[in-house]
Amino acid sequence: MTARRILVVEDEAAIRQMIAFNLNRAGFDVAEAEDCASARNMIADTRPDLVLIDWMLPDSSGLELTRLLRRDDANRHLPIIMLTARAEEVDKISGLDSGADDYITKPFSPRELLARIGALLRRSVPAEDEPIVAGDLTINPVSHRVTIGDTEISLGPTEYRLLKFLMTNPDRVYSRSQLLDFVWGQNVFVEERTVDVHVRRLRKALEPFGADKFVQTVRGAGYRFSAC
Ligand code: CA
Repeated sequence: MTARRILVVEDEAAIRQMIAFNLNRAGFDVAEAEDCASARNMIADTRPDLVLIDWMLPDSSGLELTRLLRRDDANRHLPIIMLTARAEEVDKISGLDSGADDYITKPFSPRELLARIGALLRRSVPAEDEPIVAGDLTINPVSHRVTIGDTEISLGPTEYRLLKFLMTNPDRVYSRSQLLDFVWGQNVFVEERTVDVHVRRLRKALEPFGADKFVQTVRGAGYRFSAC
């Protein structure tokens, strides 16, 4: 199993490095960001499994960053722990609409932080690991197997990620550029035509089972997965 990736968003270098050091030692793959703007880019580029966000950041607040991430389909369920310095911040975070999954107040021990991270990752794993089912089409995210009934369908890695994204977000239309962002990652510079190429391959793989009809073209808008 590959190491879980954690992004640390904290402008105070000493704290950020202390956290990164401890997470590295605990076997995590760690990325660091100093402000909201670079954090958003890194989340899009590196797709972390969990993000630690400091409350006070130079360009915006951690709370605002959390809200922005939650509005984004790709990050709606991204596990987020907020780092706070004061009790009044805790009140706001524990309020209804913060969007953070947990918070931890400074100063905290590495041990406490690792315990919170472990607990949140355990909580968030099941949803990610559960099979995604649409009609008789099933994706098993643990084994990366795609099956129709008892038959396994062989897909390339990009077709697999594309199908998984579409099946996770059914009955919604995504433009080519949105699909590039969600499936290929932002700041990956490939032409929008690439999406069509992979949709074609995906449909071809599904066609013998009559499941290609689930991947629908919406003229002038993009693509949609619908098993209805
Ligand atoms: Ca700060």
